[in-house]
Amino acid sequence: MPDIIHLLPDNIANQIAAGEVIQRPASAVKELLENAVDAGATEIRLLIADAGKQLIQVIDNGKGMSETDARMCFERHATSKIHEIDDLFRIRTMGFRGEALASIAAVAQVELKTKRTEDTTGTYIEVENSMVKKQEPIAANTGTSFAMKNLFFNIPARRNFLKSNAAETRHIVDEFIRVALSFPDIFFSLSSNGQEMFHLERGTLKQRIVQVLGNTYNAKLVNVQEQTDYLNIYGFVGKPETAKKTRGDQYFFVNNRFIRSPYLNHAVMSAYQEMIAPDSFPLYVLFIDLDPSQVDINVHPTKQEIKFEDEKIVYAFVQAAVKHSLAQFSVTPTLEFDLDPNIQQLDAINKPFTNEQKEAASSSPLFKNFSERHQSHFIQPTNKSELKHWKDFYEGADRPAGGGNSQDSQDTAMGQEGGKKFESLLDQLRKPEGSGSSLGGFSSLGSTPAAGGFGAYASPGQGRLELVVNEHAPLTQLHQVYIVVPTNRGFILVHQQLAHERVLYERFVQVGADKAMATQRSLFPVTLQLSVQDAVLMNDLMGDLNQLGYLIEPFGNQSFVIQGTPADLEQGNEKMIIENLLEQYKHFSSDLKFSKREKLNRSLAWQQAIKPGTSLSEKEMRSLIDDLFKCQQPNVTAGGNPTYIEFKRDYLEQLFKR
Ligand code: ADP
Ligand code: MG
Repeated sequence: MPDIIHLLPDNIANQIAAGEVIQRPASAVKELLENAVDAGATEIRLLIADAGKQLIQVIDNGKGMSETDARMCFERHATSKIHEIDDLFRIRTMGFRGEALASIAAVAQVELKTKRTEDTTGTYIEVENSMVKKQEPIAANTGTSFAMKNLFFNIPARRNFLKSNAAETRHIVDEFIRVALSFPDIFFSLSSNGQEMFHLERGTLKQRIVQVLGNTYNAKLVNVQEQTDYLNIYGFVGKPETAKKTRGDQYFFVNNRFIRSPYLNHAVMSAYQEMIAPDSFPLYVLFIDLDPSQVDINVHPTKQEIKFEDEKIVYAFVQAAVKHSLAQFSVTPTLEFDLDPNIQQLDAINKPFTNEQKEAASSSPLFKNFSERHQSHFIQPTNKSELKHWKDFYEGADRPAGGGNSQDSQDTAMGQEGGKKFESLLDQLRKPEGSGSSLGGFSSLGSTPAAGGFGAYASPGQGRLELVVNEHAPLTQLHQVYIVVPTNRGFILVHQQLAHERVLYERFVQVGADKAMATQRSLFPVTLQLSVQDAVLMNDLMGDLNQLGYLIEPFGNQSFVIQGTPADLEQGNEKMIIENLLEQYKHFSSDLKFSKREKLNRSLAWQQAIKPGTSLSEKEMRSLIDDLFKCQQPNVTAGGNPTYIEFKRDYLEQLFKR
């Protein structure tokens, strides 16, 4: 038998290694932009074609490379940024591993043009499959241009794995925004298929935030700035009123590097406590600068997660800094945060946040208004209830209690299982971003209520009796949230919002290409001005939204006109509905692996469901309950929350020790 172990050729080894660094066009964008920043550029242009699948080009006016460096830069572990292992703990540059260009050269066709100021001619190099195809001197401006063509041309399996152009473009825009936000004194532009999407002049951080995230934030940013010997924090947080129903514009940068940190996110959120609705998310763009030796940026291959030497200090500091800023803003709402920074350093502004101030803040009209925001209208269910099969159930099942056999109550058990499965699935999917288990004590924020109590009332030894709503007993609404519904087995407590969410969700699922939802044309069509990010998303969703009853048309320049909304939706706040919808959709798109349509269905169901605080007439409650039990799976929302909790008669008896 011959020996069987052999060394892989370099280009294949490189392709394999590249998998870790370059997963999609956006990963290459990140690496190339960071290299341009590291090269000291003051102007960086990003050009993409076909969502980066055909072309990603980054042109900078940085320091350029010598002829030898231009060849070297494509070697694995070729870097100018560290020399010895200790350098890792002093790192101030974005890159340092020397892997990015080697990886890119392994999976795409690359053209590099570069020149240093001190050289009279520049260098042009073509690389393909990790091999130099061509090299020649060239006339060029100082700086570097990397053009990366046909990503994964030599790995068709990976190329096929890429998502739709809209999705890949969104990832690219996300990366672009992260870099653009952290370097407001660098000019950035992004053109896609020859059309400029971003043109970001150099300016202050605040100007950059507004340029990137939208004009609506202009007057709604609160400055955060605290300095200590150990670390500095600066940036902006949104006034409480900017809080959205979904995690959207939230950015942390540590030493100018974008990071994800549920832990620090929690610190910010806790600073907003009692100023915003518990399930809403404020904008923040926060920069933490500290001695690089106090952070380990090396934990995650794509460097979005970091470890702090002393996490608790950073947490407390972030929380205090944000709290402090918000307190200033709430107590003195007239304070203009464009003021000269010297004024903002005054004692009156910097003095600690006292209990009195806190009280003043929470009794301000602004604070009070929060609790009233996001209230949706009630949708009058239009379907005539089809009670027939319910009657059948009722009549068939309404035998004397205990008349069944002694098997475990299967339907309840299934409901419980189903609920748990959904919940744990959702938890798993949420993990990367979520405030989940890894956070120990901090799990309450942002997570949905556990399905724990759901179905917990099933007691063994119960007859297998189909749950049937008693259609003669009156329904009672409690706290404008719950509906008490008498059944053949006891009663169920229905959560009006979650139940409605299930009903709507199934309705949307049924709307197909052939059967669109009825639209009501608006008398006064509303124009919607979106950020570039959202406009890309809207273009992607428009077709499906039309099917679902939202008639939205492009109006040029990131504007859209809402021509109509679903017929059973009250007209008047179309704009807010669509904006919230996009936010909710983005929330799903980050982690969950659902189809576009599934995400839309869920977002719309969430969006349109009647909210707690809506009082319902007997008739409205009845038709909600009818609709709910006509659903394929009435007991949970698509997101896995229980829609009702059952209280069985014999369980109640046990409670009363009968
Ligand atoms: P790293 O950034 O981790 O050092 P890369 O593979 O991204 O590794 O880049 C390798 C080297 O190529 C860099 O260290 C830098 O010296 C050089 N380089 C890359 N991009 C540029 C650029 N745009 N301008 C000047 N030099 C560059
Ligand atoms: Mg790099």
